[in-house]
Amino acid sequence: MDLDTAIRQMPKSEMHLHFEGAFRWSTVRELHPDGRGMPATPPWTGRPFAGWDGFTQVFRDFLKPVTGTPAWIERHAFEALEDLALQNVRVVELLVSHRFHAWRGLSEQEVWEAVVRGRDRARAAYGIEAPLFLGVSRDQLPADAERVFETIAAFAHPAGWLRGIDLQSDERARANREFTGLYAKAAALGLKLRAHAGELGGPENVRDAVELCGVRHISHGTRAAEDPQVVAGLARGGVWLHLCPSSNRLLGVSPSLASHPLRAFLSAGVRCTVNADDPLLFGTDTTSEFRLLATRMGFAPAEIAALAKNGFLASLLPPAEIDRACREIDAAFAGIPSPP
Ligand SMILES: [Zn+2]
Repeated sequence: MDLDTAIRQMPKSEMHLHFEGAFRWSTVRELHPDGRGMPATPPWTGRPFAGWDGFTQVFRDFLKPVTGTPAWIERHAFEALEDLALQNVRVVELLVSHRFHAWRGLSEQEVWEAVVRGRDRARAAYGIEAPLFLGVSRDQLPADAERVFETIAAFAHPAGWLRGIDLQSDERARANREFTGLYAKAAALGLKLRAHAGELGGPENVRDAVELCGVRHISHGTRAAEDPQVVAGLARGGVWLHLCPSSNRLLGVSPSLASHPLRAFLSAGVRCTVNADDPLLFGTDTTSEFRLLATRMGFAPAEIAALAKNGFLASLLPPAEIDRACREIDAAFAGIPSPP
């Protein structure tokens, strides 16, 4: 087997994937009021975004108009997971921004029920697991974020739908240290705690997520590389960074793939995974991100296999399933020579 085939066939995971950034383009064209005039590939593909505003503009103009009804939300959830399952992605810790889907008047519960229906259909069809995470936006006051969390947790936690939280959107709006109350509430329910940090915010926002919010899984963490003390703390604490190289390049967080700090983190002993973030926005998918490790970032086959296994070790899958996926990854890479 060659390296490209091994990457395609190996079991994969997604520890950093936004539901709203994983819609299928053909479906966007079908459902959007202006879809008939849209090109076969998304018009933004291949170009860096004009900053964070250019990035969020795509969500507003192209994606928001194609959600907001239960049938459409269910369809997007099924299709996003189908697209992942067809890459042999076995587990996705799917981040859901319920507000994005509620603009036509759906309640939080109606949004979540629709996501769960699509998720469960995908699991029945492909066996893909997708524990759901509540995406909390920073463009609200921390007290409001806590109220929304309690509203959703009241129905989603007893049902077993809510497995964790993540704080997302522009870190410059509000820092992680303002949300310690939210994290205390989530921790009290035994949820997995994640936070975006070190993307538009600096290394101090990564440190605060860990030390003040109790987070062990950082979405990105890229800019932690600017402070060796923060990096050493991540390594010491066994904190995971769920990195997304294409996303970092196209949003200007990392000037190039060659200068991305993934290798520096691994050398420093930080546990890392590789993920797609928003595949539709960044013109990527899980397989492509792993391919880039080989073709653009200088990673050897054994290093790529280790990163793929990390994606399972960081996940909520039961230990026996993690072991099985790791064995399958080893089998896919057996016989592929690594350079000395
Ligand atoms: Zn993200």
